Amino acid sequence: DAIDDSVRDDAAPSAARRSDRKHVLHSWSAHGTFEPIVIAGSEGAYFWDEDGRRWLDFSSQLVNVNVGHQHPKLIAAIRLQAEKLCTVAPYHANEATSEAARLIAELAPGDLNRVFFTNGGAEAVENAIRMARLHTGRHKVLTAYRSYHGATAGALAASGDPRRWPSEPGAPGIARFWGPYPYRSAFHADSAQEECERALAHLADTVMAEGAHAIAAVLLETVVGGNGILVPPDGYLQGVRALCDAHGILMIADEVMTGFGRCGEWFAVDRWNVVPDLITFAKGVNSGYVPLGGVIVSDAVAASFATRAYPGGLTYSGHPLACAAAVACIGIYKEENLIVRARRLGEEVIAPALRAMQARHPSIGDVRGLGAFWAIELVRDRATREPLVPFNASGPADAPMAEFAAACKQRGLWPFVVSNRLHIVPPLIIDEQALRDGLSIVDEALQVADRHCAG
Ligand code: PMP
Repeated sequence: DAIDDSVRDDAAPSAARRSDRKHVLHSWSAHGTFEPIVIAGSEGAYFWDEDGRRWLDFSSQLVNVNVGHQHPKLIAAIRLQAEKLCTVAPYHANEATSEAARLIAELAPGDLNRVFFTNGGAEAVENAIRMARLHTGRHKVLTAYRSYHGATAGALAASGDPRRWPSEPGAPGIARFWGPYPYRSAFHADSAQEECERALAHLADTVMAEGAHAIAAVLLETVVGGNGILVPPDGYLQGVRALCDAHGILMIADEVMTGFGRCGEWFAVDRWNVVPDLITFAKGVNSGYVPLGGVIVSDAVAASFATRAYPGGLTYSGHPLACAAAVACIGIYKEENLIVRARRLGEEVIAPALRAMQARHPSIGDVRGLGAFWAIELVRDRATREPLVPFNASGPADAPMAEFAAACKQRGLWPFVVSNRLHIVPPLIIDEQALRDGLSIVDEALQVADRHCAG
């Protein structure tokens, strides 16, 4: 037994905890030191552990539980589908998959009318890249340094953030560029407009240097999620679209995190009226109740696979249970008007509260976001913008952020903390008063971060 239970403080761990310690290898974690809480239940915007500690979920888990936990309509739909038809091979059609594809195509912009289903976001990215390569006959894909596209081999190689480092050298054919990030501009820009122009010029230079003839696609998150909730300046995505069009390059919008209401639109690209060639989705499509992702494909790209077979597939592509959950989840977004609600909560509650906090707390360097998708970036010094913890910090270097996260958790709030940032990404159904209470907890916990500030 590799794990020494004596170092843990609980005298009689539950069966779930004992088995977890001995047999589960958790994502992105060292099993000898990682000690997860054991979740016993959840409802709406809350979840609780086996000891009865309860948290308001400001994370939506991994930014996916958009309709909240244990939504009765979603559970009823899964139950009904389970009794009707649990599983069939993807070479059969069935009601749930057909209806999910129809609804998704109806919501997607422009002529994105066909859906290839996967089990999650990474597989969606893998298949979008493959479709782009086959359609264009080119092999390179341009992706942003500040990006995350998933943890399978190709998606991880396409990702820009340090999670790819342990798996390098990754898949060939990826070239990277810097996207816009006004607060920490790679282009020394002083305004959003300047940032937009310079980021587009840099992308055009990258296309030139890599050779447009060899580039199948530009793959980018519409709003960069895990790497900081970086909202592109107005004009950037339109500029990327125009650059792609000028060179016969496909535009792939990764909307795994941003799609299905998170940004106050069905898809974040709708905010700028940009129509990509391919959209990847997952998470919010069914709020994660059953694993599901996919690629929405334009008519032109789909035409490539009308008489030539698409050479890819998954045993569980278009899984009936997952697709029935998607149909129900999309129904809930519509009935409860959650897309508009996300926008309203962001504009009327989250943004004003965060801006007021910024006036009180020296540790808040930047506030940014849209819809129910916000971040505060914490710094040691507002003048120099020195981050509260260094880039990719871990262990003792990460202590100030760990303390801040702990202060939130102690007060009953489950935060989504990445690097030197708190991402505020609650379920879209969150009660307005609960949202305000959660923001007050953030306000209190920020005193912990302020102590690390200069002056
Ligand atoms: N793309 C983006 C933008 C993501 O945020 C994520 C997951 N956080 C992925 C892809 C990968 O999705 P999954 O974890 O479902 O494979």
